[in-house]
Amino acid sequence: MTTPTIELKPSAHPLSEAERNKILAAPGFGRHFTDHMVTIKWTEGRGWHDGQLVPYGPLSLDPATNVLHYAQEIFEGLKAYRQPDGSVAMFRPDANARRFQASARRLAMPELPVETFIEACDVLVQQDKGWVPAHGGEESLYLRPFMIATEVGLGVKPANEYLFVVIASPAGAYFAGGVKPVSIWLSENRVRAVPGGMGDAKTGGNYAASLLAQAEAAVHGCDQVAYLDAVEHKWVEELGGMNLYFVYEDAANGTRIVTPTLTGSLLAGVTRDSLLSVARDLGYASQEARVSIDQWRADTENGTLTEVFACGTAAVITPVGTVKSAGGEWTQSGGEPGKVTLKLREALLDIQRGVAEDTHGWMHRLG
Ligand SMILES: *Cc1c(COP(=O)(O)O)cnc(C)c1O
Repeated sequence: MTTPTIELKPSAHPLSEAERNKILAAPGFGRHFTDHMVTIKWTEGRGWHDGQLVPYGPLSLDPATNVLHYAQEIFEGLKAYRQPDGSVAMFRPDANARRFQASARRLAMPELPVETFIEACDVLVQQDKGWVPAHGGEESLYLRPFMIATEVGLGVKPANEYLFVVIASPAGAYFAGGVKPVSIWLSENRVRAVPGGMGDAKTGGNYAASLLAQAEAAVHGCDQVAYLDAVEHKWVEELGGMNLYFVYEDAANGTRIVTPTLTGSLLAGVTRDSLLSVARDLGYASQEARVSIDQWRADTENGTLTEVFACGTAAVITPVGTVKSAGGEWTQSGGEPGKVTLKLREALLDIQRGVAEDTHGWMHRLG
């Protein structure tokens, strides 16, 4: 154990166990928050300091606080799962910590040490352990670390003060009545990210940029948007908040799963990365490659591309059913969840909930 640098100032009035259990019976996603949060400050010349665990509550910000105007903000998302022995473990927090550093570099923000990121998550989960849903299903405690520029003033420059915060929210099973495929709107005129932009950083600005296309998808009866590259409008990149996988099957070569190459405008998902390995564990080939929209459609129609799915921390794996664009529409695996998709989903979830052996050393147990 490293020396704790986070001072514990827990709430004198946490929610009663009865009230908490009422929430945990049907938590939904991102609607309820635990009793506490962790905050750590950064100031130029002084670095990281004043780490605290405090009661969950509003932040007080001057209206001229930098982040409110110029969006210098980054975030992460990861989950803690109840294990069969009643303990709690987080899935790959080190990967999220490193990605948080990469996002910070891109947005000219200070890098939080990996150990401090993990310690902040540990301290919060330890304190609010009662909020981690009981073992059994896919329920988890979703952690949302984020950092904002807190310097006051309207000058445009990297801020000289920042606040790092971790909050936590219990999450129910993403698919309440069984896994259901999502429908996808192919956005041919709006892009999420551009070469040299910040598509590979986890920052709120990318989400702000995606909301209009998401609303257009809804008008076309679709759940999610798939984005193409910004230059040729040809290469499939990802959804607004999930990466994509294509499942190829042929009698001679077996099963192969393919995910778009990280070109700089895609977000490097931890789930995406994990599935490259989980697929190999299951005896499938897995690879990164560029996939064009024309190839997606042609390979579906000629029967070699048998399933498509999206992946990310919140839903783990979501099958893709219908794909719609201005130019037409097609269906993936008869609009049903594919068998490779479901097998990968089960295999990854089994590692996360501690039912399968953690051969990759991904689970971080609370001490
Ligand atoms: C967070 C995110 C993902 C998924 O990443 P995970 O680490 O698997 O949760 C994919 N795309 C975007 C744009 C994201 O912000």
